[in-house]
Amino acid sequence: MKIHEYQAKALFREAGIPVPAGTVAQTVDEAVAAYEALGVEVGVVKAQIHAGGRGKGGGVKLVRSADECREAASAILGMQLVTHQTGPEGQKVKAVLVEAGSQIVHEYYVGITVDRSCGKPVLMVSTEGGMDIEAVAATSPEKILKQRFDVDAGLLDWQARTLSFGLGLPASSIAEACRIFKALAKLFIAKDSSLVEINPLVRTADGKLTALDGKMNFDSNALYRHPEIVELRDLDEEDARETAASAAGLSYIALDGSIGCMVNGAGLAMGTMDTIKLAGGEPANFLDVGGGATAEQVTTAFKIILSDPKVAAILVNIFGGIMKCDVIAEGIIAAAKEVHISVPLVVRLEGTNVERGRDLLEESGVDVITAGDLADAAAKAVEAVGAKA
Ligand code: GDP
Ligand code: MN
Repeated sequence: MKIHEYQAKALFREAGIPVPAGTVAQTVDEAVAAYEALGVEVGVVKAQIHAGGRGKGGGVKLVRSADECREAASAILGMQLVTHQTGPEGQKVKAVLVEAGSQIVHEYYVGITVDRSCGKPVLMVSTEGGMDIEAVAATSPEKILKQRFDVDAGLLDWQARTLSFGLGLPASSIAEACRIFKALAKLFIAKDSSLVEINPLVRTADGKLTALDGKMNFDSNALYRHPEIVELRDLDEEDARETAASAAGLSYIALDGSIGCMVNGAGLAMGTMDTIKLAGGEPANFLDVGGGATAEQVTTAFKIILSDPKVAAILVNIFGGIMKCDVIAEGIIAAAKEVHISVPLVVRLEGTNVERGRDLLEESGVDVITAGDLADAAAKAVEAVGAKA
């Protein structure tokens, strides 16, 4: 789960990490009032969307008067902001963060994520802040300094100092940098975060360090421990289909291809997606209906798959273990009655009650292409997409 910059900064502030003074605003008038309340000459108006790269996309503007603030807020609020992370359709801006401007001397990168190769969080810093960190990693990886740390012990003093000196910070900033790195590591662990980034952390003309940007992602499996984080959720920023699926107890991830998949079990879903690719197709989604899905859940799953305009065929691949094939068949039939299945439907059923499932489908008169095994199903789905295109 992701949150907005202004929300991440509120968590930073609570954790003792310095952030600029600022207020979030939903309207142009609120933005101007926020700028005036700051009482600063230079302010910054920043689009609040979950994607990064807002600066380059025109979502971050420096302002030097109430009029300039009005102009910037009018331009940004309601805009469809396109960045390298939003996709070409962009994301609608519903709020701006109005902050006191900073006089930047240097921009640093600071981030924490989980290093899966050793099962520990890793704190990364770089002198190349404000830039795309992926580009730094690709062209000059030696400019990224790392310290892996233990979740119980946290980031140790010597680790914080190694990073601070490694950045070449002036002596007067070392203690402050160490404090920030340790506080960030503590926050990352306390909130079951999966990613926290300050890009950039800036050194300002008055010698202070400030988090100019803030990003935090959270492990969805740990959200039950953090009702205060769940409250920060902004469903408008999330894929509507993924939200509907999660409400129905289905695991669904939207992808870019044209073959909608309905599978029971995460491993089988992965295998099905691989087989589709092997047959020359592209999956439109990952969808695991789970071991004990009901006919209603299967109907919901169909509705979610069909609401994606990219879907040109559907492949149902069910191995009936706990899940029975006749239940899936009932779900398919119910869905076909409720929603018009407008694309070719390839079904491969195997396992418990498979005969009954096949009979039900046949008797129902629902138009399905039956497949003998997975390779056959994938080939038929790819062929159906080709025939439709
Ligand atoms: P992002 O593009 O979505 O990562 O948004 P950021 O919050 O990182 O802002 C992008 C860039 O705008 C920063 O790297 C800075 O160079 C610049 N910027 C943001 N706030 C200020 C500010 O207060 N003063 C100045 N001079 N530049 C700023
Ligand atoms: Mn940034």
